Amino acid sequence: METTLKLNKQDLGPAAHFLAKPQKLLINGEFVDAVSGKTFETTNPATGEKLADIPLGDEEDINKAVDAARKAFDEGPWPKMTPSERQRILYKIGDLIMENRDELAYLESLDNGKPYKIAKAADIPLTADLFHYMAGWSRTLEGSVVPVSDIAVPGAEFHAYTVREPVGVVGLITPWNYPLLIAAGWQMAGVLAAGNTIVLKPSEVTLLTILRFAELAREAGVPEGVINIVPGFGAGAGTTLTSHDQVDKIGFTGSVRTGRSILHTVADGNLKKVTLELGGKSPNIILADADLEQAIPGAAMGIFFNHGECCCAGSRLLVHKSVYDKVLDGLQREAEKIKLGPGQDDGTDMGPVVNQKQEDVVMGYINSGQDEGASLVIGGHKVGDQGHFIQPTIFADVNHDMKIVQEEIFGPVLTVQPFDSMEEVVKVANDTVYGLGAGIWTTNLGNAHHLAKAVRAGTIFVNCYNVFDAAMPFGGYRMSGWGRNRGKEAFEAFTETKAVYAKLN
Ligand code: NAD
Repeated sequence: METTLKLNKQDLGPAAHFLAKPQKLLINGEFVDAVSGKTFETTNPATGEKLADIPLGDEEDINKAVDAARKAFDEGPWPKMTPSERQRILYKIGDLIMENRDELAYLESLDNGKPYKIAKAADIPLTADLFHYMAGWSRTLEGSVVPVSDIAVPGAEFHAYTVREPVGVVGLITPWNYPLLIAAGWQMAGVLAAGNTIVLKPSEVTLLTILRFAELAREAGVPEGVINIVPGFGAGAGTTLTSHDQVDKIGFTGSVRTGRSILHTVADGNLKKVTLELGGKSPNIILADADLEQAIPGAAMGIFFNHGECCCAGSRLLVHKSVYDKVLDGLQREAEKIKLGPGQDDGTDMGPVVNQKQEDVVMGYINSGQDEGASLVIGGHKVGDQGHFIQPTIFADVNHDMKIVQEEIFGPVLTVQPFDSMEEVVKVANDTVYGLGAGIWTTNLGNAHHLAKAVRAGTIFVNCYNVFDAAMPFGGYRMSGWGRNRGKEAFEAFTETKAVYAKLN
C-alpha cells in the first residue's frame, strides 16, 4: 500500500493542442465567451495545476441557449429532418469520438483524475457506442393503429392511432464522475435521436471533454441551436435552466440533494417533465458457494474502479460467514496491489479523487467510520502532499446503522458485513434508501435468480460488476432516481405520445 507519491510536472500529451485554445460556450452553433466575460479554472486533481480557464455561463447565457434550442426545435431542421438524416449525423458523431479517442481519453484523465488507460478502454468507446446505438433508434419513432369502440359516440367509426413525438427543448445537467460518457452518451444521444434540442449544463468540476465534444458534434453536421453547451455553477446556470419556462424536460444525473431541489423548482414553475439519475449504496453479495477466485477481485473492482466514484459502486459487501475471513484476507491483498498515481501514467490503477471537496467528503466518512467503532482493515489515509490521492480503504466490524454503511461516500471505501442466511442478506441488501445496483456472486443458478428477483435495484450483476451496455436500461429504484438512461427506455423517455381520433362517418 502506497504512502508516498512521486509526481512529475503535468504532461498534456495528446490534449495539448486543445488546451492551448481559448475555451468557449457553444450557443446557436457558435463558439462564444460568456456574456459577463467571467471565467473559472479547471484543475488537474493529481497536481492541483490549472488546466484551462472556462467561460462562466450564467443566467443570460442560459437564456440565450434556451432561445436557440427553442428556435431550433420550433423552426429548425432537426425535428423535421428525415430519420435517416438524423441517424447518419448521430452515427458520424460516434465515429468522430472513436477517431479522437486518444485525445478525449487524455483530456478526461487530466480533468477527472481517472487512469488514461481506463478512459480509453471504457469511457470513450462506450460514449461512441451510445451514439451508434441511438442512431438506430432515430428510425423507430413509431406509433400504432388502435381499434376503438363507439361508446362515447354511438354509431361512429374511427381511424384512431398514436404518434410518438419529441418532447421539445431538453435541459441536461450532469456530474463529474464520467464527464463525457454521462453528458454525451447516457444523456444526449437518446435525446437527440428522438428529435429534441438540448441545452447542457455540465458539471463545473470537469468540462474539457464535453467542450471538445462540442467541436466534434459541429463537425458531424449537427445543425445550429440543436446542441448548446453552457458550463456554469448549479446556483446560476443550473437553476436558470431548471426554472426556465421554455424548457420542456430536464434530464438530471447527480446527487439526491440536487435532484430534490430540482423537483422543488419544477413544481413551482412550468411542471416540466423530469428524469433523475441519482446516488446509490449498492450491496455486493458473496454467497457461500461463490467462486472466490472470481468474487474477490470482482468485489474489489466493484468498489475501487474509478476510485469508487461510480453511482452504482458495490460499496456494501455482504459475505456469507463461512467464507468471510477468506474474503476479507483476499480483499486486503487486492487493495495492496492497487497502484495509486496520476491517471496519465501507464502503471496507475487508481488516480486521485476529483477535488478538495470530494477529498474532504471521503476523509470525513473514513474518520466517522473509525469514530463509530468500525475496524480499519486497510487504507484510510490520504497519500502525498499534492493532489487528492486516497488509499483504497476497507472497513470490517461495521453495523448496519453506521453512516459509512448507510450513506453514499462516492470514494474508494468499502464496508464488509457477514451474513448467515438468504433471508437475512435480502433484508440487509434492501435496507437503505437507495436501489441503484447490486452484485451477486454464486455458482448456484437458483440462488442467483432468487436474489436477482428479491433485491430491489435497477441493475443486478451476477458474477460480474460494473458492466454497462448501450442497449440495457440503467436507473434506480426508490431514492436512486426516476426513469432510466440508455436502452429503449431512455429514448422513449424523451418523447410524448399523441392520440389521434379521425371520425370516418
Ligand atoms: P451534484 O448533484 O452536486 O451536481 C450534479 C450537477 O447538478 C452539476 O452539474 C451541478 O452544477 C448541478 N447542480 C447543483 N445544484 C443545482 C441546482 N440547485 N439546480 C440545478 N443544477 C444544480 O452531483 P455531483 O457531485 O456532480 O455527482 C455525484 C453524484 O451523482 C453522486 O450522488 C452520484 O451517485 C450521482 N451519479 C448518479 C448517476 C446515475 O446514473 N444514477 C451517475 C453518476 C453520478
